[in-house]
Amino acid sequence: SDLHPMRALFKIPRNPPPTLHQPELWTGIFNDFICKCLIKDFELRPNVLDLLQHVFLQQIRGKEKVLQKHLMEHIDLNQHNMNSFTDVEEVDDLATLEVLDENTVADNLQGRYAKDQIYTYVGDILIAVNPFHPMDIYTPEHTKKYLGAERKANPPHIFAVADIAYQSGVSDSTDQCIVISGESGAGKTESAHLLVQQLTFLGKANNRELQEKILLVNSLVEAFGNATTAINDNSSRFGKYLEMKFTSGGTVVGAKISEYLLEKSRVIHQAAGERNFHIFYYMYAGLAERRKLAHYKLSDSKTPKYLFNEHVKLGPDIVSNASYKEQFDAVEQCFKVIGFTLEELGSVYSTLAAILISGDLEFAAVASEHQTDKSEISNIPVLENVASLLCIRCDELQEALTSHCVVARGETIIRPNTVEKATEVRDAMGKALYGRLFSWIVNRINALLIDPLNICVEGDNSLNIGILDIFGFENFKRNSFEQLCINIANEQIQFYFNQHIFTWEQDEYLNEEVDVRMIEYEDNRPLLDMFLQKPMGLLSLLDEESRFPQATDQTLVEKFEVNLKSKHFWRPMRVDLGFGINHYAGKVIYNASGFLAKNRDMLPADIVLLLRSSENLLISKLVTHPLTKTGYITRSLTTFIETQSCGDSGEATHHPRETTNMRTQTVSSYFRYSLMDLLSKMVSGQPHFVRCIKPNNDRQAHRFDQEKVVVQLRYTGVLETAKIRRQGYSHRILFANFVTRYSILAFRANEEPAATPESCTAILEKAKLENWAMGKTKVRTPRSNM
Ligand code: ADP
Ligand code: MG
Repeated sequence: SDLHPMRALFKIPRNPPPTLHQPELWTGIFNDFICKCLIKDFELRPNVLDLLQHVFLQQIRGKEKVLQKHLMEHIDLNQHNMNSFTDVEEVDDLATLEVLDENTVADNLQGRYAKDQIYTYVGDILIAVNPFHPMDIYTPEHTKKYLGAERKANPPHIFAVADIAYQSGVSDSTDQCIVISGESGAGKTESAHLLVQQLTFLGKANNRELQEKILLVNSLVEAFGNATTAINDNSSRFGKYLEMKFTSGGTVVGAKISEYLLEKSRVIHQAAGERNFHIFYYMYAGLAERRKLAHYKLSDSKTPKYLFNEHVKLGPDIVSNASYKEQFDAVEQCFKVIGFTLEELGSVYSTLAAILISGDLEFAAVASEHQTDKSEISNIPVLENVASLLCIRCDELQEALTSHCVVARGETIIRPNTVEKATEVRDAMGKALYGRLFSWIVNRINALLIDPLNICVEGDNSLNIGILDIFGFENFKRNSFEQLCINIANEQIQFYFNQHIFTWEQDEYLNEEVDVRMIEYEDNRPLLDMFLQKPMGLLSLLDEESRFPQATDQTLVEKFEVNLKSKHFWRPMRVDLGFGINHYAGKVIYNASGFLAKNRDMLPADIVLLLRSSENLLISKLVTHPLTKTGYITRSLTTFIETQSCGDSGEATHHPRETTNMRTQTVSSYFRYSLMDLLSKMVSGQPHFVRCIKPNNDRQAHRFDQEKVVVQLRYTGVLETAKIRRQGYSHRILFANFVTRYSILAFRANEEPAATPESCTAILEKAKLENWAMGKTKVRTPRSNM
């Protein structure tokens, strides 16, 4: 074959492998080989090295058979050492790799992945490569195997992370926080499930009922907060922080969820190939089976506009979908087990149905002599259905949709809404109802699950273990406000990771005066500042612009351009309303169209007041009470009833009855607040990191796209993490020995460089070795402690 026999000998994976006619590539491999020797400081016999040098310098073509024979003879003498790098035995912990570069790390992960070893450590961090097929490694036997076991006793596993968090939480009495990151579809949510499962087991919930409830929480919340996207059939469209609460002795007593930034816009519109939140489809199938569609004014044949998109038509594949029916039963079961009442359930379904049907409300312009911009509802039967489901008056709903109250010069005036405006109000109502319903469910779950048995008496130093599963970094063809918020959140998490892994650790080295070379990593602080700084950060600018009634998305982008003095911000050519950000995970071009409206996220006071009058308790509750005791889960009512600016007169006003103590809060300021809140929780606990990696874009099992993986390893800083985790395995060689052995890498064969730090540095740099330190007499190179 065209394959060089040396390849078999060294087993150095190359993609594609060089042929005999590419001597320059072989020189590279030779250098790699020498580097490996160097890194291990493998006691290479001088004659072997000489031979290698000789043959390679003469360009080996044609002589490989002889070479191989010679090498084998010599290498045999030192078989033991040779094995450790001729076998491509993958390692459990990347920090123990002899050679740390992107390809080696990716090769290692790939080799493991091929054997279905999806988990790998980098020091104390877990890498999880999505298997995209069910694995049999989560059985009760595995659950037991990882209980209190030494890390080295078992292969890497997500259960081991749960165990270490639990054990250190209990023994140090400190809160713990498990941060799961990775792009969409990488396996974060699955990982979060597995962690909860194992933690529930570890927390030996003495009452099975509670255990069962905690395990159900995820499925319930996901029915409402997850959806099918182009990337993931079960994509989380909100961020989730689940805190499990334990007694100081380690018995689980409850759980609490915080949700962040639900992607409400999905309720009214889905991109091609995507879907609305799961619950809508489940509900159709479930209610159809029970013959209750009509009860909720739903038809089994007419697809509501909010569900309609080119791929979705209401028909047997939704209405009689067996899996949806099952899911609906499961959701209802979850509701009941957790403790929701039947009445509450009925109200939840009514609200969902009302949202769907309201999307079909149509408006027509009313031609009249005096008022040109007036609109009215053209399909009254739909209006009646919505009003009846919301338990409000039909005429009042029409009024609230097609007109609005303003106060101008002390007088309350009713102004008509144009068709366009009325449509906006309709959509705003749908989004708000869904967002509030979601928050209400989460809060209700919390009320039912935060230590429901009151085990943790006041004063008991209870222990929290939090699991963070936020939406991963997103970069689509078209990126909007939602992507910006998601990506800023990821930027913040990455910053926290960096701080923990690099900044704090290296500070410690400095303090201890350990002579190590600092690992360079991509510090995203400047970028984060660009987003969050006040008053000139991107979010502040966005807020400021959102307060100007006359502002447009165009003026917003211009404001960014004028004020954001950062190399991370740019304006792409030929993209209207476009701006680009160089995120830690890649360049993203955003389209600012709709930014202001999305940030203002206004629901007219007229609608709020109307819904508040609903005879359905749930509906009126949704718009009345600040929903939460915890404060951050939902925006308080003040957010909700915002300045109703009337674009024409410029005199921003509130509804007369709502003017007192109303502060405006935009989505972005709320977002900033919840981000800080989340961070403060994370920082207060001891963190553990799980890095999910997506091995291919096609959700295929057993397919490992190296290029794709390398990109993810790069932006998450896995390589740097491995390096810093390896620090301390320091190995020292005298200059003279070092130069003699490895001069070939940087000097000609007949040269005899002096045994100086300069010669050593030249060699190390030529070999592209990193992570070394120059002492007074010795070179320090890292060495694994395998
Ligand atoms: P993310 O939350 O990161 O967007 P998910 O956790 O939803 O990704 O995972 C996407 C899909 O990948 C899941 O629906 C599942 O099919 C598969 N998957 C992820 N992790 C595992 C695992 N550990 N075992 C089997 N399949 C998995
Ligand atoms: Mg998810």
